[in-house]
Amino acid sequence: MSAVETVHGPVEVDRLGPTLMHEHIFLLNPEYMQNYGRGSWWDEDARVDDAITRLRSLAGKGIKTIVDPTVLGLGRDIPRIQRVAAAVPELNIVVATGIYTYHDVPFVYYMRGPGLLIDADGVDPMVTDFVRDLTEGIADTGVTAALLKCAVQEDMSPGVARICRAVARAHRETGAPITTHTNAGKQLGRPTIELFRTEGVDLTKVVIGHSGDTVDLDYLLEIADSGAILGMDRFGFPDPNLTTRVNTVAALCRRGYADRIVLSHDAACFSDWLGPDALEINAHLLPDLRHDYIPTVVLPALREAGVSETDITAMLVDNPHRYFTPASA
Ligand SMILES: [Zn+2]
Repeated sequence: MSAVETVHGPVEVDRLGPTLMHEHIFLLNPEYMQNYGRGSWWDEDARVDDAITRLRSLAGKGIKTIVDPTVLGLGRDIPRIQRVAAAVPELNIVVATGIYTYHDVPFVYYMRGPGLLIDADGVDPMVTDFVRDLTEGIADTGVTAALLKCAVQEDMSPGVARICRAVARAHRETGAPITTHTNAGKQLGRPTIELFRTEGVDLTKVVIGHSGDTVDLDYLLEIADSGAILGMDRFGFPDPNLTTRVNTVAALCRRGYADRIVLSHDAACFSDWLGPDALEINAHLLPDLRHDYIPTVVLPALREAGVSETDITAMLVDNPHRYFTPASA
């Protein structure tokens, strides 16, 4: 049996249990927080306590694992996650490595790499950093990343393509699975898969994230038929609404695709994307975007729509289990 790295250390994959495959705890730009939040709207202890309360409640509703793909560009801060995790030992938290950007690479990589001003060894330093996170651990935290993440939101720009290729190479080197942010409205899962296929990625280890944002079944079936997994991972976002998202999942299950679907919200305990008043705005503008919406509202709605317990278990337990099981195991 193989194990997956979590903030609490390695956990046997068959003990992951019901898993939400794309959740954030904090989305927080550290530069913004340090310059505008300190002494003002950011209260570290209060936010950590609030996250602990929310995640304890989630674990009490039957979710055993969350995957937190908060990578560079989204404010990954493992010591803060460790503070939360220490108080919620009943919940596994899996963390990721990678880069989140919609256009350009971060400036720390801008001049370094093959063909660039600083080209030490012909290896993209992104690949080196990703592999280190996946094999040795993240900084001095003792926590090891278990998956890779990249984002394709606007188009496959040169910067985005470089990151996707670096993610693919780190996957080939380590076997770590990949999750993605994609723009389903623009059908950007398609070029993402094309790039990964060219780079020799095992597509069964790829989640095409935010696929549930579209109702185009032809597109979704095309992605699933590539072998990749559909991230129906924005339950609680208002557009499309709950009924539409549920009906899309039910339609895919009726066609026999429950083994290619994972479920999640893409919620955060605190997201500075919503500004300093994130908690109030989240509660009033996006009231369903919360970590316990799936166990309390979505699963009953899926059953109501005719989705079987076997299919629900596939999406929530079996598929995450298989995704984190190394291909060689
Ligand atoms: Zn996300």
